[in-house]
Amino acid sequence: MKEDCIFCKIAAGEIPAATLYEDDDFRVILDLGPASRGHALILPKEHYADLSEIREETAEKVLPLAKKVSAAMTKALGCAGINLVQNNGEAAGQTVRHFHMHIIPRYVNGPKIVAWEPGSLSDDDKIQIVKAVKAEL
Ligand code: AMP
Ligand code: ZN
Repeated sequence: MKEDCIFCKIAAGEIPAATLYEDDDFRVILDLGPASRGHALILPKEHYADLSEIREETAEKVLPLAKKVSAAMTKALGCAGINLVQNNGEAAGQTVRHFHMHIIPRYVNGPKIVAWEPGSLSDDDKIQIVKAVKAEL
């Protein structure tokens, strides 16, 4: 647990939060500034700043948990879709530096969120990006 990390304190139960689910590794809470009704956050109980730090053993449990909570939300809240959002770094919009995954239920009549203006991918850039990233994998 990291001093002064609000999500460490919430995950440990030291600060109260609306908890949807808890096990040895995770707490799932409602986001206090929801993008939509039911917007939730998966918080690991161990502190990792972001995806670059998370242990693989923990990381591999995140998606099955997101699937489980998403299925429950679909039944309980009647949402028509779900966005999983996971921000890493300030440039990506991460405001709390404790790894978390957003589960955002989406409804037929909005709100319209998680959207971007599509850019374009040039042939040159395509080749350069594929080469550069593949070399690091
Ligand atoms: P991110 O921008 O990906 O770091 O997301 C941080 C999220 O945490 C935001 O959606 C906030 O609304 C949410 N948040 C911040 N503090 C709390 C809190 N005490 N309880 C619940 N959600 C919180
Ligand atoms: Zn933390």
